[in-house]
Amino acid sequence: MVSKKKRMNELVAEIEDCQRCRLWRDAKNAVPGEGSLSTDLMFIGEAPGYWEDVRGRPFVGRAGKLLDELLSSIELERKKVYITNVVKHRPPENRDPRQDEVEACAPYLDEQIQIIEPKILATLGRHSTMYILSKVNIQVRGITEARRQVYTADLLDQQVTITPTFHPAAALYNPNYKSALHEDFKTIKSELQRT
Ligand code: URA
Repeated sequence: MVSKKKRMNELVAEIEDCQRCRLWRDAKNAVPGEGSLSTDLMFIGEAPGYWEDVRGRPFVGRAGKLLDELLSSIELERKKVYITNVVKHRPPENRDPRQDEVEACAPYLDEQIQIIEPKILATLGRHSTMYILSKVNIQVRGITEARRQVYTADLLDQQVTITPTFHPAAALYNPNYKSALHEDFKTIKSELQRT
């Protein structure tokens, strides 16, 4: 049986060479994701931003600082979870990823979920929430409607709990989102304690 580490290393190498859509052309680095491969909890953001592109690591800019703060508020270390994005190369000027870019890139995320087999998928923001919920045939209008719920579903032959919340970057522009994020992270913690 091939180990998780080997499967992930092969996938990361593939992501680093990926030219499935236009985004690799302007990017400095691919940002495959990082963290524990034996975790129960995976965070899924949207796409790398400026600092993530420079460093090849997810959530290392201002939104990442807030993510770290949210993690420590529920006594979780970053290295104990897995953090990735729907799209693995930075869209120019941090524009929203386009549908064809999501479609080209999302199979990598699906494979990461199959390798790690997390019990909880914490989706950060509209893009990852809509992607994951639509895969399990749950229709929501947007993140504000989705975030009050905890969903259980079969995804890629695995039983998962989906805990949508706002993207941490949203709280950088509107501090009202910060308390909502803190509340949602408490929900994530209690779901984690139930697993
Ligand atoms: N925003 C994201 O969605 N992902 C990152 O990695 C950084 C910022």
